[in-house]
Amino acid sequence: MASRVALMELLKGVHVIETYATTTLLVDDRLILVDTSADADAGKVMDYLNQIRVKPKDLSTIFITHTHPDHVGGLAAIKHGSPAKVAAHRIEADFIARKRVYDGPSGPQSHPGTPVDVLLDDGQKVDGLEVIFTPGHTRGSISLFDVSHSLLIAGDAARNESGIQPMDDRYNVDPKQHRESIKRLAKLHFENAVFGHGAPIKGGAGAKIADLAKHL
Ligand SMILES: [Zn+2]
Repeated sequence: MASRVALMELLKGVHVIETYATTTLLVDDRLILVDTSADADAGKVMDYLNQIRVKPKDLSTIFITHTHPDHVGGLAAIKHGSPAKVAAHRIEADFIARKRVYDGPSGPQSHPGTPVDVLLDDGQKVDGLEVIFTPGHTRGSISLFDVSHSLLIAGDAARNESGIQPMDDRYNVDPKQHRESIKRLAKLHFENAVFGHGAPIKGGAGAKIADLAKHL
């Protein structure tokens, strides 16, 4: 059977599923998904899980870095029939559940609302992932730091499409705050990074973000 999404294991147990936006899958003593891509790409994420014999019902937690449609759109389909907990920053939860209308770019949302089970705060650790509050792209954006892989899962706190850069300000609710969040990330020590958009980095990622932060 032809695979629709190329397998990519960035580090042992760290899978990067590239669709329009990136989904990260951690397979070690944990089974964790970070972001769910767009509604139309949920099938690709599930195909990937199937190829490496992971069932959505076996996921422990699905983290959502922020409420944009290309990160939250596939959530309802992937979560369907799965007891996985959904975790997101408490500011973002009502937008993901669609209890509130999102007031930032790219406008009101259309994904099927899914309740958030675990309301995250800055510095909290869930399943070994540390929550780094990185607002500015959306109001409740987070990045996740996995010390066991020296890995930052940036979400849309920055992108790596032609070098590491801030997100396009057309999509940022608060461009100044977005840059302050990048400066926060620059203070962390990590080697590897996955971005919502653009290529992941294996080795030297923290230094590259620190370099970007110096020029903001
Ligand atoms: Zn986004």
